[in-house]
Amino acid sequence: MTTIQHWINGTLTSGATTQPVFNPATGAEQARVVLGGNAEIDAAVQAASAAFETWSESSLTQRTQVMFNFRQLLVEHEEELGRIISAEHGKTVDDARGEITRGREVVEFACGLGDVLKGSFSDQVSRGVDVHNFRQPLGVVAGITPFNFPAMVPLWMHPIAIATGNTFILKPSERDPSAANFVAELYKRAGLPDGVFNVVHGGKDAVDAILTHPGIEAVSFVGSTPIAKYVHEQATAHGKRVQALGGAKNHAVVLPDADLEFAANHITAGAYGSAGERCMAVSVAVAVGDAADALVDVLKRKANEVKVGPGDAEGTEMGPLVTKAAQERVENAVGTAQAQGATVVVDGRGLKIEGHEEGFFTGPSLLDHVTTEMEAYREELFGPVLAIVRAESLDQAIDLINANPYGNGTALFTGSGEAARRFQRRIKVGMIGINVPVPVPMSYYSFGGWKDSLIGDNPIHGPEGIRFYTRPKVVTTRWPQPKQQVTAGFTFPTSS
Ligand code: NAD
Repeated sequence: MTTIQHWINGTLTSGATTQPVFNPATGAEQARVVLGGNAEIDAAVQAASAAFETWSESSLTQRTQVMFNFRQLLVEHEEELGRIISAEHGKTVDDARGEITRGREVVEFACGLGDVLKGSFSDQVSRGVDVHNFRQPLGVVAGITPFNFPAMVPLWMHPIAIATGNTFILKPSERDPSAANFVAELYKRAGLPDGVFNVVHGGKDAVDAILTHPGIEAVSFVGSTPIAKYVHEQATAHGKRVQALGGAKNHAVVLPDADLEFAANHITAGAYGSAGERCMAVSVAVAVGDAADALVDVLKRKANEVKVGPGDAEGTEMGPLVTKAAQERVENAVGTAQAQGATVVVDGRGLKIEGHEEGFFTGPSLLDHVTTEMEAYREELFGPVLAIVRAESLDQAIDLINANPYGNGTALFTGSGEAARRFQRRIKVGMIGINVPVPVPMSYYSFGGWKDSLIGDNPIHGPEGIRFYTRPKVVTTRWPQPKQQVTAGFTFPTSS
């Protein structure tokens, strides 16, 4: 059986403790992954600190060239990387290719480094005095990432960190760790010097070692809200800069004037795509006024049409959940919802896929008459369960969403520009789709929610990524003429 090792200073590094990595479609253990702690993080910090000395001095041209090479390798190996992701995560190969494409767009943004890293210059701020600014890298930075996007979420971080001159330690999810090592090899082939990109596998021990290591300047985290809060608290207490993106409960509001077939189509894909294991998954549909009954009918038909199967099988639209525990948690949540008074319109529990009876499958579930007190509404289920909540008006729907502790994404389906404008201005959510169910991350904009979906105030990638991974310097310069007499006053200097 393969053991997935750390990648430190450009080479695979073994470890004593391991844990299993499963194939979610068969339920079988297919590999083991090493679990790092203080020693491995320290070894990675040593390698990354040494590499920082030269990498931070490399030219913009050299860094840009590495990013272009890396981008090309991601294109050439998209299918291979997609299959690696699908085999450990369970999502379809096409879906995995989609996340690689989105991640690659961040590399493309980083290829424009020469433009985005330009400073500014002010001529003659005082007589004979100019001011300019520029930004410098922080040093060794780390990323801690979730299982649901093993390629894309790390790609939100490391291309920008590395392009701006930092060196990077990735602690990927221990549930699907292989994509990180594959990316490390692509970086090496792209010409990135050893030690600039490192991977340390593991769980809480590795995370705690990152949060407390004095050699790490900044931590980027994406995962569930309780861990995001913990990471933010610990990392800031240890003097680090932190980005901490948390969980979600994303609502799609459907107004009576919407095209119901169109809305239901997109909500179905947004709810059940990737088995609902997306931070931007639609988990609540808010049906407004008399849209409700007709919407439920269409959603029911579409949920029953979703093709569930192994992620690498032709025609599969939805794969299994990532672990047995996730499958049990999601199926129990459907039972709890029923016990609390919700109507189970489509029941995905107990689904068996022929030839894959031990796989972690559950079918799409559709719950109607869900209220805001029910667990199915309050908890992030992170599975293929869509809850329908009914509201009397758009304003009531907005109030309901604003009262929810999460604020990652939301969508409105309508034919009314006035309603769309009111919605996007009043809603307390970071990313909004108008007739778009999953407002996806665009690499040249920042990405991050509000409230419990983003702890602290640092969104990720785009211009925010450049800002996060660098510090500004402002330089005030005077070049007096030889022997020029300049009076140095004792009062606080002002411009003249
Ligand atoms: P998770 O919080 O369980 O794990 C995230 C990372 O934290 C992993 O690397 C894991 O090893 C580590 N970790 C887990 N438990 C820990 C602990 N007790 N102490 C220290 N570290 C710990 O999240 P997950 O299940 O891998 O991913 C799903 C979650 O991520 C969902 O809540 C989803 O909404 C969220 N997510 C959010 C975004 C976003 O952009 N806001 C994007 C993707 C995923």
